Amino acid sequence: MLVASVSSLETLLKNRSWVTFIAASPDDITVIKETLMEHGEKENLEKFDFITPNRRSPQFILYNVPKEIGEGELKVGLMAKNITLADGNNKPHFKIEFSIPARDIRFNHWVLSINPKKYDDFKNKEGLYFHFSRLRLSEFISVKQCKKCFAFGHAAKGCDPANKQLCDKCGEVKEENHRCRGNNCINCRESNRKVRTNYKTDHSCLDRNCNVLTKQKEIVMRRTDYGF
Ligand SMILES: [Zn+2]
Ligand SMILES: [Zn+2]
Ligand SMILES: [Zn+2]
Repeated sequence: MLVASVSSLETLLKNRSWVTFIAASPDDITVIKETLMEHGEKENLEKFDFITPNRRSPQFILYNVPKEIGEGELKVGLMAKNITLADGNNKPHFKIEFSIPARDIRFNHWVLSINPKKYDDFKNKEGLYFHFSRLRLSEFISVKQCKKCFAFGHAAKGCDPANKQLCDKCGEVKEENHRCRGNNCINCRESNRKVRTNYKTDHSCLDRNCNVLTKQKEIVMRRTDYGF
């Protein structure tokens, strides 16, 4: 839905107001931008902020931060060694969200949300400096997967209590004498049955290359504000 007509846009521009557009989708924003361009307002595009509600900010994961480092120290340390992480007023372009235990128990990984306008900057960095080392950085696309029924979109806590614990390999109920017949991904099987996809199913329900997982990641990416 377009919230402003072109004539009211022109009025806003004449008044040199700072304008924030709230649009339902990136496609709508494209339409607004094209309209402005057609009206010779290319230079003025800079004056606009475009917002789509309910979109997540891009997230990045910073690997293997020593466990004893807390959120505050991490933030200060990152800003001290990476000047591009803050604006001229020292306002950071990132927000520290949460940590995840690393495989090596001496470390945590930390997830950061970043200013969508800085996405390319972050994407092009291979790491961030912290104290006397460089920490590896990559984009974080989080998809919730239940550890009980292996469905996507909820965690075990949110799983229907009536659901039984399934086997992560074959997706059958994991009873005491469960005889596993090997990898058979429950999500790919369901997808093939319900929406007639033709996915291979000979992988575990937790396989990182699962087609359904890839689709879920694409959905998260479509909901992400990449700063256009
Ligand atoms: Zn579940
Ligand atoms: Zn099994
Ligand atoms: Zn699968």
